[in-house]
Order: sequence, then structure tokens, then C-alpha cells
Amino acid sequence: MAEHNWKITGVMESDPVQLSDTINAWQQSYLNALPFPAASIVFRNKKPVVLFCNAAFSEVASARKQPNLSASEEDNTVHLHPELVAALEYMPPSLRKPYQFDWMPPGREKRCVYQIKVTAMENPIIGETCYLMLPIDCTATAELHTTLRTKILRDSLTGLPNRIGFSRLLDDVIAMDDGNSPVAVIAIDLIRFSRINESMGSLVGDELLVSVARRLTSALRPGDRLGRIGGDQFGILLTLNHGTSDVWHTARRIKALMSTPFNLANLKVKVNCAIGFSLMDDRIEVSEDLLRDAQIALKHAKESDHVEVYNVGEASALRKRFSLETDLRRAIDNGDLHLAYQPIISPYSKRVVGFEALARWDHAELGPISPAEFIPVAEESGLIIPLGRWALEKSIYTQQDWDKQAGFALPIRVAVNVSALQLMRDNLTEVINSLSRQVGLNGERLTLELTESALMRYPEQSISVINTMHELGIKISMDDFGTGYSSLSYLKTFPIDHLKIDRSFIANLAEDKTAVAITRAIISMASTLSIKTVVEGIETAEQDKIIMDLGCDYAQGFYFSRPLPADEAIAYYLAANKN
Ligand code: C2E
Ligand code: CA
Ligand code: CA
Repeated sequence: MAEHNWKITGVMESDPVQLSDTINAWQQSYLNALPFPAASIVFRNKKPVVLFCNAAFSEVASARKQPNLSASEEDNTVHLHPELVAALEYMPPSLRKPYQFDWMPPGREKRCVYQIKVTAMENPIIGETCYLMLPIDCTATAELHTTLRTKILRDSLTGLPNRIGFSRLLDDVIAMDDGNSPVAVIAIDLIRFSRINESMGSLVGDELLVSVARRLTSALRPGDRLGRIGGDQFGILLTLNHGTSDVWHTARRIKALMSTPFNLANLKVKVNCAIGFSLMDDRIEVSEDLLRDAQIALKHAKESDHVEVYNVGEASALRKRFSLETDLRRAIDNGDLHLAYQPIISPYSKRVVGFEALARWDHAELGPISPAEFIPVAEESGLIIPLGRWALEKSIYTQQDWDKQAGFALPIRVAVNVSALQLMRDNLTEVINSLSRQVGLNGERLTLELTESALMRYPEQSISVINTMHELGIKISMDDFGTGYSSLSYLKTFPIDHLKIDRSFIANLAEDKTAVAITRAIISMASTLSIKTVVEGIETAEQDKIIMDLGCDYAQGFYFSRPLPADEAIAYYLAANKN
């Protein structure tokens, strides 16, 4: 490094400081040997000037060219870069701890970042406060931060913002929302993507994603932003210049672009996509709201095969459902559910032959919640499995209680509802066997009600479960017949004991001759197959008469009795069967 005999020149030309008085050439070479930039600064007329510094410092922090200096002065004068001069002027007058700020020297070929640290030091030689100024090169750290940020916010495959990056974009838009620049979020799902990925390999899958990203980019207008928000999902942030018609236009453009097959591994592959979108409005507080709404619409789009827009109110229904799920879980754990028992009677003798056990939930704050509301939540969340086991166990205990009250084993069968999920996922045979061992279940006292649609959906499992149940003396009822496939020929396939004709059929028996004809056909077909019929939902004496005329075996409905608490149910039984 070249040796200098430094002369310090302040920013004010009129007030130069002679460095040669304070530092000699040897000291200067010592300073220059330091592997980092360093300088001592003093203030002259409130302007910072370099008292002395090393060559590394002048390399970093000096103004490259100073105007108004003679050639001889320029040789050995270090002028602080004007940006640094300005920054130092903001320095508090009495420095107790190091003052620091970041500085990016302008005009460099490569972007550099320095952290400038300034520490106050009393200088006894010149009798005033000097400042040690150390520019620390943070370029590598800053680059690392930038790379990390890019990695966190970008999808490495397509180079698009990933879900986090896309959410950030939305957050920025929401933060700036002044109500005058409406935006929409479009969510796009590639319908057969997982099949392509599985059958052609993930490399081909990746290629497809990149091609889709390219096509979608070409559908954008300036200012619209595309992101990859999930494995096979893309999101577009749209500014609406002409209201929602902008979204419909974009959706149409995307559908048109995607209709051309993709060339993948020498094959032409057609990829369909589902499109759903949501619109920014006052409810939206965070980006996740807008994205979630778009994805709810997307879910509908997958079912309907149309572009769907998010329907306000669905989110609150979802939230309600979610909190219902949490509460239901707790209710099952705490034993807050109970069973109501609805009599099943012989319509001719009006004697009770059994009961259907129906779950009841009295929510501490919301009051009674209908099974029509909580059973679907239980099914979607998987809670139907513990709920179903509980219902089986509880109905057995109730029967044991009834027997105790009567002093003998009552000839009552209780019908317990079993959902399709229980049939599929829970090992029903194992559950029933363990109930036999642990609580003394007697198969002769139990009927399982399986809906027509559950049986039809899983025919093999159903038939095998039915056969095992029969070995234990348990009877099987096909519930809600008439609401699903309702194929009479299918009845032969399932070795069921009872057929429950759905309430919807019964409701218009009195007015509708076709309903009567169909019910008659069902009853006669069932009887040919030795299947007993149960008619649900009898509400009037007239309906009761019609079903007796039709020759139905058993009946159930509010006309006879509503579902009753266990003690009222046994009282009803004893009264109806006393002779
Ligand atoms: P479901 O199995 O068809 O049960 C009969 C439903 O019809 C019961 O409704 C009952 O209260 C109602 N009902 C009975 N007679 C009449 C009538 O004359 N008129 C009218 N309008 N309704 C009548 P609930 O108790 O609200 O149960 C609804 C559904 O919830 C049940 O329909 C069943 O599918 C399900 N469910 C109830 N408890 C359980 C359970 O423990 N497990 C499972 N998996 N599902 C259950
Ligand atoms: Ca039922
Ligand atoms: Ca039913």
C-alpha cells in the first residue's frame, strides 16, 4: 500500500487541517496495514472532516472526485463522501454509545453494504473530541439475507412467489387498500395433476407445472401477479379496472389457454383446471382471508365444473362448523351427549317391538343441537367413530337398566345408527366383540341401521359386516330407503332384515297416488325377499291407516311417540305392552 503524508481537508475549503502534524509516515503505514477501513473524524464548523485514515478507508468512504481542488491537494486529501457527511451531521452531539447506520456506496459496479460504526474518543493531543469511524463490510450478510428471503418467498421450481410470497403481495395490497382499487384473487387447481405425477413421474409433473406457470403468465395483464400457492394450485392477484368482468375475462382467457394440450415426454396431455375467485371487501383483514375465500370457491368449482365466485357467509358457516367440531369433541369426551329412544311399533297391535336410539346434544350455550346439524360435522371430522361406539355402548347399558327395572330380560331390540364412515374405517366386528366381552352385549337385542347409500357405497364391506353380525344374532336395517339409489333389484344383494322406508315417501301418501303405488311395490318386493318393512315418519292417523292397508310390518313416527328419554321410553313400552 502506498505511503502517504496525509493532509486533511475539511469540507470547507477555508479550514484545512494539516495531518502532517498529527501522524507521520510510519504511523500511517501501520494504519494502512489494518485489514479493515478506519478513520478518525473531527468536526470543523459543524462539518465532519477526516483527521487521518487508512488507505482502505479512503477506498470505501471518500468521495471519488472532489470539485474545486488543485491537483496537489487531491493527491493526499481524503474527503468524506457527501452521503456520509450528511449522515454524520445527524449524529447526536454527546455520543455515549457507538452511533451506527447502514450505507450503500452509490455508483459501485457491485452492490455493497457497509455498516458504519462511529465511537467518540477524547483526543488529548489536539484537545478535542475525535470520532473513530469504522465502515464494516456487510455485503455478504446482506446478500445472504436477500437470498434467504428470496428462497422463503419464492417457489424454486417456477420462480413464482410461493404461498408465503403471494400472501405478502396480498398483505401489501390490503395495507394500501383505500377502497378505490378493488382487487380479486383467482385460485386455479390443475384437475388431473396428481394422476399425471403418479403415472408419468415427478419430473414430468415438474415440467407440466413450469409450462402451466408460463401459460398463466401469458394470461396476465400488466400489474397482475401470479403465484404458486400449493402443489398444483396457482393464485392470481388481479386489479379490477372494470369491476368483476375483469375476473370473468381472465378466467375465460385461462380456460382457453389451458385447452391446448401440453407436450410432455413426447405425449400430448390435456390438463383441465378448476377456477374459483374471491373479491376484496371490508370483511377482509388479512391476506389469508382472501386466499381462503378463493380456495372455498375453488372447491365448489371442482364439483360444479364452472368458474365459481366466493359466497359471503360461507366463511362464517365454516367457522361455526369448526367451533361446533371442537365443542362436539369435548361433549363426547365429557359424556355430555345422551340418547333418546323412539318407539318402533306394530301398527296393528300398537305394541312396541323396539326403539331407535337417536343421539341428542344439549349444548351448554347454544341449547339443543339437532343431529341433522352435528352428525354431518361428526362425519366430516371423524368424530362419528367415537360417537358411534358411545351410542352402541350407551344403548346396551340402557337396556340393562330397563331389564333391572322390569325384573327380567325384556324382548326389546334397540336399533343403533351406524354411519358409512364407521362401516368403512372402524372395525365394527371388533367393536361389537369387545362390547360383548366388556358390557355383555346380546346380539338378539340389537339392530344396526345402515343407510341405503352407505351400503351401496361399500357393498363388499357391507355384506361381510352383515354376515358377521348375523352370526351374533344382530339384525340389520337398511335406513332411509328411497333417498338414494333405491334399486329394488339391489335389495337381493344385501342380506338385510329390515327396510326402513324414508319419511319423505310417507309425507305425501295421503295425497299422492304414485307414492302409495311405490310404497306398495317396495313392501311387496321386500316381503318376497323375507325382509320386514318399517315405515318412518308417521305423523297422522290417516298415514297410519294407509300403511296398515299396505301391509307394512312396523311403524315409527311422532303420531305414536317422539324420541323419549330412557326412563320415559320404558314407561311407554310398559304401558303399550301391558296386555
Ligand atoms: P334417521 O336415522 O332417519 O332417524 C329418524 C329421524 O327422524 C330422527 O331425527 C327422528 O327424530 C325423526 N323422526 C321420527 N319420527 C318422525 C316424524 O314423525 N316426523 C318427523 N318430521 N321426523 C321424525 P333426528 O333424531 O333429528 O336424527 C336425524 C338423523 O341423525 C337420523 O336420521 C340419523 O341419520 C342421524 N343420527 C341420529 N343419531 C345418530 C347416531 O347415534 N349415529 C349416527 N350415525 N347417526 C345418528
Ligand atoms: Ca335411523
Ligand atoms: Ca331414517
